[in-house]
Amino acid sequence: MPASARSSVLASSTPAVLGGAPAFDEPIYVTRPRVPPAPRFNALLAQIFEARWFTNNGAIVRELEAALAERLGVAFCRTFCNGTAALQVALRALDLHGEVITTPFTFPATVHAIEWNALTPVFCDIDRNTYNLDPARVAELITPRTSAILAVHVFGNPCEVDALAALGRAHGLRIVYDAAHAFGVRHRGRPIGQFGDVSILSFHATKLFHTAEGGALMGPDASKVARLELLRNFGIVNQDEVCGVGLNGKLSELHAALGLALLDDVDAELAARAKLAARYGEGLAGIAGLSSQQPAPETEHNHAYSIIEVDPEAFGLSRDELHAALGAEQIVTRKYFHPLCSQNVAYRGLPSADPQRLPNAHAVAARVLCLPLYGELAADAVDRIIERIRALHAAAPRVRAALQQA
Ligand SMILES: *Cc1c(COP(=O)(O)O)cnc(C)c1O
Repeated sequence: MPASARSSVLASSTPAVLGGAPAFDEPIYVTRPRVPPAPRFNALLAQIFEARWFTNNGAIVRELEAALAERLGVAFCRTFCNGTAALQVALRALDLHGEVITTPFTFPATVHAIEWNALTPVFCDIDRNTYNLDPARVAELITPRTSAILAVHVFGNPCEVDALAALGRAHGLRIVYDAAHAFGVRHRGRPIGQFGDVSILSFHATKLFHTAEGGALMGPDASKVARLELLRNFGIVNQDEVCGVGLNGKLSELHAALGLALLDDVDAELAARAKLAARYGEGLAGIAGLSSQQPAPETEHNHAYSIIEVDPEAFGLSRDELHAALGAEQIVTRKYFHPLCSQNVAYRGLPSADPQRLPNAHAVAARVLCLPLYGELAADAVDRIIERIRALHAAAPRVRAALQQA
């Protein structure tokens, strides 16, 4: 019996923190990786074993790269062992210097890739509603030392790509997108990977499309590929020559096989998520104190995440209180992205990390909560999660008191 059906027996409107039965009898995680059809995966494994070729630009990696470039509508796509390595190589390949303007409201890897390249991250505040870099604030931070803007399509929501491109042209800056969340997104009629000089993807198991661990670089201009491939493979040009500070960024054939087998299902994954996201949207709409990220216009979204923002006064509970109370229901949620990257001890001393300069990022990080969403999540589980959020709102003062006692 699936978890959601079994748990209907436990249905109760009394929140677990007030002594009711938990909404679920086993944890509902924030995401769950998809598994490929066994015959498809096994056939690819047999092909790898037959060839005895496990890595180094093998046939499966090349097939996956071609399939991804086609699916994602980009001139090139090259796979990596993870998204972080892809980003490190992207920044290295662009020969950047000095400062890179970026967002504090992201996963730690975004900013680490700047630092690993001995560049200086400059934190810029986000838009209060879209959660993405605010181009007007970016413009104020550009100096003669700036060489690039590293923007993130946060939760798959496209950045203001035209405004950022205009800044890039006006100041001679490279535009790099961290599109780790944006697999399959289209914006203004174009695939998301066609914007900027280069974009990275993450294929970590928690992402919408995955290879267990993995990532990719994609972009609109294939002239960059030779240099990216060189840096992905230690900088080895040929048997007699090594140049450039490369790393080992290669995806293995085994990981590529997982991706190739899962790629057939990615449209089903996207469609299932769209339905569940709509269900969340309708169910949560009437609850006071809850809002969400403002979606970019003219966009085909991928529903990589289900995000709510909690206004503590209107909802009656803070984000942290709701997170704890849902945890007692066996509903696992994540405080993405708290803490901000600018609060990391490695970066908090930077002038641009001063919280006074990042008011929107701090406001969002204090209120945002990521709810369970993945293609195989049952519709009635979504209904139960909504019902529990509603019940917690209704009983907010008693819930708060109970949490304070615990
Ligand atoms: C997941 C993620 C990454 C890192 O990807 P890995 O494949 O885990 O290295 C980078 N940026 C963002 C925004 C992410 O969410």
